[in-house]
Amino acid sequence: MSTSYQLCQSRSAGACPPLTLNRLQKLRSIIAEKGLDALLVSQPENRRYLSGFTGSSGWLLISDNRAILATDFRYVEQAKEETPDFEITQIKGALDSWLPELAFDLKWHKLGFEANFVSYHSYHRLSETIKSKQVNLELVPTTDLIEHLRSIKEPQELALIIKAVELTDAAFEQAKSLIHPGITEREAAWEIEKYLRQYGSEGIPFEIIVASGPNSALPHAKPTERIICSGEPVLIDMGARISGYCSDFSRTLCLEKDLKAVSCQLSAIYDIVLKAQLAAMEGIKSGMDAAQADRLARAVIEQAGYGDAFGHGLGHGVGLAVHESPTLGPNSSDSLADGMVFTLEPGIYINGWGGVRIEDMVIIEKGRVRVLTRSEKDSFQQSAIH
Ligand code: ZN
Repeated sequence: MSTSYQLCQSRSAGACPPLTLNRLQKLRSIIAEKGLDALLVSQPENRRYLSGFTGSSGWLLISDNRAILATDFRYVEQAKEETPDFEITQIKGALDSWLPELAFDLKWHKLGFEANFVSYHSYHRLSETIKSKQVNLELVPTTDLIEHLRSIKEPQELALIIKAVELTDAAFEQAKSLIHPGITEREAAWEIEKYLRQYGSEGIPFEIIVASGPNSALPHAKPTERIICSGEPVLIDMGARISGYCSDFSRTLCLEKDLKAVSCQLSAIYDIVLKAQLAAMEGIKSGMDAAQADRLARAVIEQAGYGDAFGHGLGHGVGLAVHESPTLGPNSSDSLADGMVFTLEPGIYINGWGGVRIEDMVIIEKGRVRVLTRSEKDSFQQSAIH
């Protein structure tokens, strides 16, 4: 076989930074348990988590004694900088043009891949090449191996998440003083984005939501030119990213000087959503099924007669990705453990009228929930702007 890959740098044994080494060790025991010779990693956050590489294209290959980052010409220098303890392999072309040869040279016969992140097209071409070149290599689909590791946060990760949470808290304080009746949703979203970026967010992890009046009934509304009026719900959902780690945050406001003028329905719905969130915060314990955690909040909303209006899960893990493991929802098979960081974000959405969502980030520590988000939410009235 001709060499379709080029080794750029060798790893000096034992030189891995403690974090990477620790993560690789954990993954290596999973790889051994699964009976694999190596695992091919292509999911961007998984790649970054294991190697430190932040480029947008590249493959990791992890075996019991090798840690290889395969990337193309554009990223080789960056890879050397960011992942000094990985072997960097410069590749050209699609997976099938270099992987069979590399696997053959390293005598790998059972290669795991992330089934959710290798396209059918790549898989098909790779399988065809393996067959036509008569390489003894079995491709084994895997799911959630690294996602599972990522769901338990290390102290260094938590510190970055807390910085991102503090930034969204600060951005919300600023937003409360800037958003006034007469401003459009887009203007309000831009003010929030400017603040987040000015104070250190690496871009924004998702499009900021500012949804007013009936638009707030759409859980993932896009900001429009609609002018925000007094007395109606204004749902804000935003996140920050610090050194790769995200925060996720929602509050529902009402721009109304005269609190008596706030509709009873809005006030009542706000209280139900808050009660549902607090029930989850109180009741969640480590070891609990994530579906059971969802139930704690959902039961409150159902009892109030709004079960059908809470159409999404209670929350999701947050870390390098803004949505990651665990999933807190009625159909989740995850279970909750110490060190997991996730959102609690119940909501009630009524078509044509509006919606309320309150979203905080929490961590499970010593078996119980600790709330990371600090922004005030105690009552809908206190959330109103004067
Ligand atoms: Zn969220």
